[in-house]
Amino acid sequence: MARVDLAGFNVDADILKEISASRPGSEDLTPETLSAAYARISRDPRPVGELRRLSRTEVDKARASNERIVFGLGHASVAEHAVFNFDVLEISRLAIEALEAHRLASYTEKSQRYIRLGEDFAIPSEVSARNLSAPFSEFVSRAFSRYALLVARLMASGVPDKMAGEDARYALPLAVHGQLGMTCNARSLEHLVLGLKSSALAEVRELADSFLAVARPIAPSLLRYMIPGPYHLQRDAEVATAVMSLLPDPPVASAAAARTRIPEGDVCLVDATHDGDARILAALAVPTLSCDYSTALASIRGLDHAGRSRLHAAVVARLGAYDALPREYELATMTFEVVLSAAAFGQLKRHRMSSLTTWPYDPTTGITIPPAIEKAGLADVLREGALEAEAMAMRLGGPGDPVASYAVLNAHRRRCLWTVNLREFYHVSRLREDEHAQWDIRLLTMAMSDLARGAFPVCAGHLGGKDIFQPAEG
Ligand SMILES: Cc1cc2nc3c(=O)[nH]c(=O)nc-3n(C[C@H](O)[C@H](O)[C@H](O)COP(=O)(O)OP(=O)(O)OC[C@H]3O[C@@H](n4cnc5c(N)ncnc54)[C@H](O)[C@@H]3O)c2cc1C
Repeated sequence: MARVDLAGFNVDADILKEISASRPGSEDLTPETLSAAYARISRDPRPVGELRRLSRTEVDKARASNERIVFGLGHASVAEHAVFNFDVLEISRLAIEALEAHRLASYTEKSQRYIRLGEDFAIPSEVSARNLSAPFSEFVSRAFSRYALLVARLMASGVPDKMAGEDARYALPLAVHGQLGMTCNARSLEHLVLGLKSSALAEVRELADSFLAVARPIAPSLLRYMIPGPYHLQRDAEVATAVMSLLPDPPVASAAAARTRIPEGDVCLVDATHDGDARILAALAVPTLSCDYSTALASIRGLDHAGRSRLHAAVVARLGAYDALPREYELATMTFEVVLSAAAFGQLKRHRMSSLTTWPYDPTTGITIPPAIEKAGLADVLREGALEAEAMAMRLGGPGDPVASYAVLNAHRRRCLWTVNLREFYHVSRLREDEHAQWDIRLLTMAMSDLARGAFPVCAGHLGGKDIFQPAEG
C-alpha cells in the first residue's frame, strides 16, 4: 500500500515567531529545506523523510542546492514546494487588480458587496507628486457621500440593506482600499514580484517590495531573480511604436456579427473551437473505440445531432451541482470580447483557469447603472459621480495615464478579451448564473452561456447556475 507521511503544513506566523524565539540560533524554520529535500529526490535513492532530515541539519547546503537546482539547472518547479501566506492590507482596489492578475495563487478579499465601506482610500504617490492630493481626496470624499446617499435612498425605496450597499458601491472609485489574504508558492511569488515591479504604478511596485521584505529573509535561496529588465519595461512601448508605424490610420470599427448587446455591456464571441462538440465527444470515445483520436473524430462527425446528444447525455446523466465536467471538455475553447463594469470585472478576474487580456480603463466605454438605482430614480446621482470621476481622471493624465484609473468608478466599463475552455466555463456558469450571484456578472455570464450554446450546441447544453439542480429526493 502506498505510504503518505505528513512533511509540513502552513502555520500562523505568530506561532512561528514563538517557536523561533524558543530555539535561538536555529536556522531551519524555513520552507527551503523542504524544497531542497524534494529537489534531491530525483538523484538520491534515500527515503524522502531522510532527505528532509538531512536538509534540516545542513540549511546552508540546502540553500546552495536550491540555488543550483532551481536557478542553475532550471528545475524551477522545485521552488513550488515552499508556500507563503500573506495578509495584504491598505491596498487600493486598482492595485488588487494588478496583484490578482497573477493566476497561480489563492486570494480571499474583503467584499465590497457584503461589507459596508468606510471612507478608506489610497492617495497614490503620483497624485501627491502632481500636487493633486487635496482635490483627489475631496473627489473621493464626495464619492463616499454619494455612496451613503445611494444606500439610504435605495433602502428608503425598499431595496434590502445588503443589496443597497452592493449597488451603491458602483459610485466608488478604484482608489478605495481593500484587504485580502493570499497564499502563494515561492516560484509564483518570484514571477508575481517581477510582474508587480514592472508596473507603471508606484503603489504596485511598492507592493512588490513589501512582499520581498517579508518573504526573502525566510527563503533567500528561492527568491532571486526579480529585477525587471528591458524586456519587461520597454516591451509595451515598443509594441505601440510598431503598431503606430505599421497602421498609422485608425481603423474603422467593424460591427461584430455575434455581438450581444445587453444593458450592462457588450459580449461578443470572437472565436470558438471549430466543431468543438465533435472534438470533445471523440476524445471521450477513444478508449472504448480503441483507436487513435483522428479516427474517433471521423466517427463522431458521422453522428447526427441526436447521436451526439445521446453521448453527451451519458456524461451528464449523474452530474451534480458541484461536479466538474471531464477534462475532455477543455478541448473546446471560446474567446469572448466583453465590455463590463469594473464591479463585474472584479469578479470575472477571479477565475484563474482562463486567459484574461485586459486593456486600460477607458471612460468612453460608458457606465453600468444598476437596475435598482435606475428604478429608484437615482441614476443621475451615479451619472453625476461618473462625470466627476472622468474630470478627475483627465486631471490625472487622461486615459493614456495609468494613474487616471484610480479615479475610475466601479460603474465604469472596461474592455477585455476572455479565453476560456468549456470545462472552466461550466464552473463559472454554475457559480455566476446561480441565484446567489451578483446581478451584473450573472447577466453577463448568461449572455456568454447563450453564445456558448450556439458554438457547442450539444456539449454546452447543461450550462446554468447551481440552482438549476433540484435537490435529490430522500
Ligand atoms: C456568490 C459568490 C460570492 C463570493 N464572495 C467572495 C468574497 O467575499 N471574497 C472573495 O475573495 N471571493 C469571493 N468569491 C469568489 C470565489 O471565492 C472564487 O475565488 C471565484 O468564484 C473563482 O472561482 P474558483 O476559485 O472556484 O476557481 P477558478 O479560479 O475559476 O478555477 C476553477 C477551478 O480550478 C480549481 N483551482 C483553481 N485554482 C486552484 C488552486 N490554487 N487550488 C486548488 N484548486 C484550484 C478549482 O477546482 C476551481 O474551482 C465569491 C464568489 C461567489 C460566486
